[in-house]
Amino acid sequence: MAKELLRKIPKMDLLLEWPGVGEVLQAYPRWLVVDALRSILEERRQRIVAGEDDPSLVDPSSIVRELQGRIEVLSAPSLRRVINATGVVLHTNLGRALLAREAWRYMEEVALNYSNLEYDLVKGERGLRYVHVVEILKKVTGAPGAMVVNNNAGALLLVLASLAGGKEVVVSRGELIEIGGSFRMPDVMAASGALLREVGTTNKTHLEDYEAAINESTALLMKVHPSNYRVLGFTQSVPLKDLVALGQRRDMPVYEDLGSGNLLDLRTYGLPYEPTVQDSLRAGVSVLSFSGDKLLGGPQAGIILGCEGLIERIRRHPLNRALRIDKLTLSGLEATLRLYMEPQSLAEKLPTLAFLATPWELLKIRARRLKGLLEDSLPSSFALEVMEDRSYVGGGALPLVEMPTAVVAMTHREFSPGQLDERARGGYPPVVGRIKREAFCLDVRTVREEEVELLSLSLGRSLQ
Ligand SMILES: *Cc1c(COP(=O)(O)O)cnc(C)c1O
Repeated sequence: MAKELLRKIPKMDLLLEWPGVGEVLQAYPRWLVVDALRSILEERRQRIVAGEDDPSLVDPSSIVRELQGRIEVLSAPSLRRVINATGVVLHTNLGRALLAREAWRYMEEVALNYSNLEYDLVKGERGLRYVHVVEILKKVTGAPGAMVVNNNAGALLLVLASLAGGKEVVVSRGELIEIGGSFRMPDVMAASGALLREVGTTNKTHLEDYEAAINESTALLMKVHPSNYRVLGFTQSVPLKDLVALGQRRDMPVYEDLGSGNLLDLRTYGLPYEPTVQDSLRAGVSVLSFSGDKLLGGPQAGIILGCEGLIERIRRHPLNRALRIDKLTLSGLEATLRLYMEPQSLAEKLPTLAFLATPWELLKIRARRLKGLLEDSLPSSFALEVMEDRSYVGGGALPLVEMPTAVVAMTHREFSPGQLDERARGGYPPVVGRIKREAFCLDVRTVREEEVELLSLSLGRSLQ
């Protein structure tokens, strides 16, 4: 039987002439189509050898149908929209902050037209790309000087290289963190050419520890926001203002890596207080840096604020050219910062803030609506329930804050939660949820009202 089937595997020439293949050949290069057909034939040959005796394996129409599906997948963009039903607002793997529509419109204008990126329209001569965000950054934060680069890891590298290259930087052991994606503070420091001088212990560092470490090759005192973790219990760290006082006494600049960097009093939005960028500036920090796409809610960028003299040194360092911010990022960042000039409408316009500030009662209504839509589109072998749960901010911001949320918890008579999760990820658009308490859960905190229907459509198709 196997021999018989193997003999019947259609030839390439025949397949290339088969109805339907002509259209594929018009849209895609011949080599791509031939390659795809070859691998389909090889897979089917192996299935026959392994004992499958389904005659459709050698049916040209079935092979061509598979080809059409495969070409569609091959030609779909790799980076594409997904629905984030994890409830994690700043999910680094799912693209962190969503841009405000205002920011996007502005980027589109700059992308599709020439711009005054590095051109001074008053003087008619070359200008600096940074001017477009420096003034607004100063206005919004109160910083004396400002500068932007590609991302906060770049900012950190540049600050250390320009202010402490070949010199020592004093950092508390409790702040030598690793954040996701193989970013380890000691490694970035080494790459910058600065020499790490660790002080204190994992759980406790005192001002005297910093003081004792200062010597003639010390260039910088540094503080790092612990981002994604907290040491609890018997702990002590030195407040920024004490470190600043020490820096002033010993004539030593103080740099703070704030990680997420927040400009707002989050209590206004029903969240716990998180120290702000303005707090650090008021405490007298010489330089600080933070991300553009975490709590700020803008595009990926690294924002550096501080004394003008130090900012100038940072700006002039040769590494700056390699970390240069791109024009689209710059326009998106400027537009995002402009939204901060009107705080009353910020929560409406900035998706990050809107997600964080959505009250639980509203989330419950949204989850019930999703459950209703799913009940209509899924067979009765699925069980659905709206449950209370917790969602997280993500992106290293407010790691201990849990926000009450509502999820639709889904189970199936035969499929495991892992299998439901896998199918959902394969849908159009893909849906990413989370598994908790033996159920596949969809957290609606990160699903906008207008996305609920699309989410149920996607699951309706992928879970059938
Ligand atoms: C996120 C983070 C960074 C890296 O910022 P990117 O913008 O992702 O490069 C650096 N330091 C801390 C403390 C962070 O939380």
